[in-house]
Amino acid sequence: MQGQMMHYPLTIGHFLERAEKLFPKVEVVSRLPDRSLHRYTYGEFASRARKLASALLKLGLKDGDRVGTLMWNHYAHLEAYFGIPIAGGVLHTLNLRLHPTDLAYIIEHAGDRFLIVDDVLLPLWEKVAPMVKNVEEVIVVPLTGKPVPEGFLDYEQTIAPAGELEEFRIAGEEQALGMCYTSGTTGRPKGVVYSHRAVVLHSLASALPDALNLSQKDVLLPVVPMFHVNAWGLPFTATMTGTKQVLPGPYLDPESLLDLYEREQVTATAGVPTIWLGILQALEKEPNRWKLVPGMRMVVGGSAAPEGMIRAFDKFGLRVIHAWGMTETTPLGTVSYLKSYMEDLPEDEKYRIRAKQGLPVPLVEARGWGEEGEIPWDGKTMGELQVRGPWIAESYYNLPEGADKWTEDGWFKTGDVVTIDAEGYIEIVDRTKDLVKSGGEWISSVQLENALMGHPAVAEAAVIAVPHPKWQERPLAVVVLKEGASATEEELKAFLEPKFAKWWIPDRIVFVEEIPRTSAGKFLKSKLREQFKDFKWE
Ligand code: AMP
Repeated sequence: MQGQMMHYPLTIGHFLERAEKLFPKVEVVSRLPDRSLHRYTYGEFASRARKLASALLKLGLKDGDRVGTLMWNHYAHLEAYFGIPIAGGVLHTLNLRLHPTDLAYIIEHAGDRFLIVDDVLLPLWEKVAPMVKNVEEVIVVPLTGKPVPEGFLDYEQTIAPAGELEEFRIAGEEQALGMCYTSGTTGRPKGVVYSHRAVVLHSLASALPDALNLSQKDVLLPVVPMFHVNAWGLPFTATMTGTKQVLPGPYLDPESLLDLYEREQVTATAGVPTIWLGILQALEKEPNRWKLVPGMRMVVGGSAAPEGMIRAFDKFGLRVIHAWGMTETTPLGTVSYLKSYMEDLPEDEKYRIRAKQGLPVPLVEARGWGEEGEIPWDGKTMGELQVRGPWIAESYYNLPEGADKWTEDGWFKTGDVVTIDAEGYIEIVDRTKDLVKSGGEWISSVQLENALMGHPAVAEAAVIAVPHPKWQERPLAVVVLKEGASATEEELKAFLEPKFAKWWIPDRIVFVEEIPRTSAGKFLKSKLREQFKDFKWE
């Protein structure tokens, strides 16, 4: 017997209609380049998104055309998030921290026909423009209020005369809604194409109580850029729930963010660990300066959230939620939370669990795959994390040679090395490329880094494999100390010793001013490895 339910396509058109009908008074607040705050409501947002859609159609947008966005987090970017897909276009967010040659490659590979760019980012576009031929029109958002230079369309003038698009041009839930390229620390960036269905289901899962627990009453500030896996889908999730959004524009330094958290009484936020390490230092320096909402949830992902950081934020009454994901997984894959019967565990044990990457969210399946097949749930055996589910990519855009990232039985090979404990909690121990292989045994660089970052004098730590004459590779730790703090190599080694087997302890710890980063704010280990490849162990 078949079920007898309606075939109702899952599209983000519904999110837009819902927000404008039910939550037209809820605010969207954006920080502008002059630091002032722009405020409007979901009602105005929806009207302008519909106008943008009409304007794009008038410019000749056809179904499936890619529209690139080179923008910070603000209201016009949110309009693009909805205006492009409801016009049948594909929202292609561009990472403004990439090198112009990489941007040019991505824009050409995706075949972007139109581009929407912040006026403050025009100098970047001007470096990219000579290298690309496929962009026909560039629409400039005049965030500074200055006139838009000749040769570009003014966003405001383009959407003002356009009517509000009434009928969305979304053919069905499998239609492409957007695309992102992986930040790719090695090799060329790879394009991932998201469908409406994937984003809708992902939004529902992200809002669940054991994930972000997002409600209409929240105030959400995504620090994660809207060009990094769609700000982890949060602009879609928040529009679905009718949640007030606070978009920080170009100001991602700790003080600007803390000011916004206080001023808008933010209850939920999200970003990579490097952002939180900075915020933590600011709070530690001036613990009484900001009056934040008690219990503010901070989703931390993109790299491992060190246990020390989770503990430190708890002291300020702020709650870290550790999550794992990838561009290829839209991105939410796992979240760490305690099961009902774990609340009475000793504090240390609870922190250990919260610092893991956690349990797969509903509809995502995960397994660890080792040399002998699926790894046991013993918390020790390492294997590659493989996932499948309705918001996991099944292929890369126009890249047949990328097919080896999927197994024959249809799982995506993440390239992350994990252990899974008896309760099913996944812990990432490394990227396959970053593991240290010492005398035939694996050492997890991530676990060493997290432990080092638990030392009060350490701001940041990265551990890399460096060639070694006897052991093939040995771990080298590269450490940035907190401002005004001091620690010696011997002290840090002694700090690690009780926590690890002797042969895991880095042979050397070197101190540097800063650790190179990827465009998404993660440690760029390939560059560190290059820098230290001729390191003399003595
Ligand atoms: P991206 O596609 O740029 O978001 O990068 C995805 C990669 O980031 C994953 O494959 C992981 O290696 C890493 N990553 C994401 N979240 C976490 C996390 N919570 N802990 C450790 N690594 C993470």
